[in-house]
Formats: sequence, structure tokens, C-alpha cells
Amino acid sequence: MEQIDSFRHRGMRTRLVQELAGKGISDANVLKAIGKIPRHLFLESSFVNFAYQDKAFPIAAGQTISQPYTVALQSQFLEVKAGDRILEVGTGSGYQAAVLVEMGVKLFSIERQRELYHRSTRLLSQLGYLARFFLGDGYKGLPSFAPFDKIIVTAGAPFIPRDLLTQLKVGGIMIIPLGDAKQVMMKITRLSEDDFEQEQMGECAFVPMLKGIVK
Ligand code: SAH
Repeated sequence: MEQIDSFRHRGMRTRLVQELAGKGISDANVLKAIGKIPRHLFLESSFVNFAYQDKAFPIAAGQTISQPYTVALQSQFLEVKAGDRILEVGTGSGYQAAVLVEMGVKLFSIERQRELYHRSTRLLSQLGYLARFFLGDGYKGLPSFAPFDKIIVTAGAPFIPRDLLTQLKVGGIMIIPLGDAKQVMMKITRLSEDDFEQEQMGECAFVPMLKGIVK
């Protein structure tokens, strides 16, 4: 793997940031984080030349690293503030996690595939991004670390998991792709103990959110 972050990588990254801004990403902190993170280190080495294209790519265990635009959009919908406690479901490559940590949040991230969990935990610690990673089933969330200011689900969920709703603070926001083959990005705001507002934020396509842990 090309471990270094070269002048060439930084140049490609600057162009990616400009492309995302052109596509409507306006949260300056999201753009700044994407401008800093060496995305090429999150891909298999054979895909390094694609790292700064605005495309999703295969990673290990039949999963994908989300398209930069999708990562940026979900991060923007989350209305991230430094210090937020955020739960991510679907660590995958760890790239979305790195973006959130770079934005100054306290991140808790769950992955159900052991291989991805190990790789991402190792990579983020090598890169100096501090977050807590868990091998587990995202449908259950992390009750012992709840409540969270924000929850981001990065796999397509067939329904909104009840456990995740209960782990959201009042005033908190959850961003979740809802549906099967294609999904609608939902923004859920917890208005009170019992009231949740749901907004549709557009179509998207994620790998499915599955049950249980892969040993
Ligand atoms: N956020 C990731 C996107 C990875 S794709 C990134 O930045 O690269 C979605 C990930 O969700 C996959 O790694 C998949 O294994 C994981 N996943 C699917 N269902 C899950 C569940 N129930 N709990 C935790 N992770 C899950």
C-alpha cells in the first residue's frame, strides 16, 4: 500500500473538494476534513489511482467505501458540532469515521464484519484518529454508551431500528438510508421523548444493513 501522502495526492484531494463544493456541499468543516484525509490509504492498493474520484469502491469482505459525495452529504445532514457524541453503524473502510473524527467529534463506530473491524481499527490508530470501534450488530446500537447527539447509518436499512431511536438524545439527529435495493436518505430528529420528525433527503444506494456478526 502506498503509505505516504504525496504532493500529487494532495493536489487530487484539492480537486475532489472543489468538485464536492460544486455538487452542493456547503459545510466548510466537512470540506476541510475531506481535504485533509488521505483517502487513498483507505482503499486496496490496486485502486489508489481512483481514490480521489467521486466514486464508491470495493473494499474487503464484499463491502464498499462510500462515494465521497455520499460521505460529505451524510456528514452535512448530521449538522456536526465539535464535541458531539456520534454513533456510526457500518465502519467499513473507516473513511467516514475519519471524516467525523477530523471534525472533532467523539466517535463510536460499529461493524459486523470481523475483518473490516480489525483493519479499520488498525488503520485509524496508525493515522492518529482517535475513535472507539466495536465488532457488533448495529441494529442493537451501543446501549452502554448511549445517548448520542447524532447517529449515522452507512448501510441500507429495511426499517428504522427501534434500539437506535431510543439511543438518540432529545434534539439529536439520525441520518439513515431506508429501503432495500435503493434507499431514501432519511433525517430523523428527536423532538421529545416520544416525538420524532422524519424528513426525506433524497435517493441513495448503499450495501444492505444485515443482522448479526460475521466471525
Ligand atoms: N462508512 C463506511 C461505509 C461502509 S459500507 C465507509 O466509510 O467506508 C457499509 C458497512 O456496513 C459494511 O462494512 C457492512 O459490513 C456494514 N454493516 C452492514 N450491516 C451492519 C450491521 N447490522 N451492523 C454493523 N455494520 C453493518
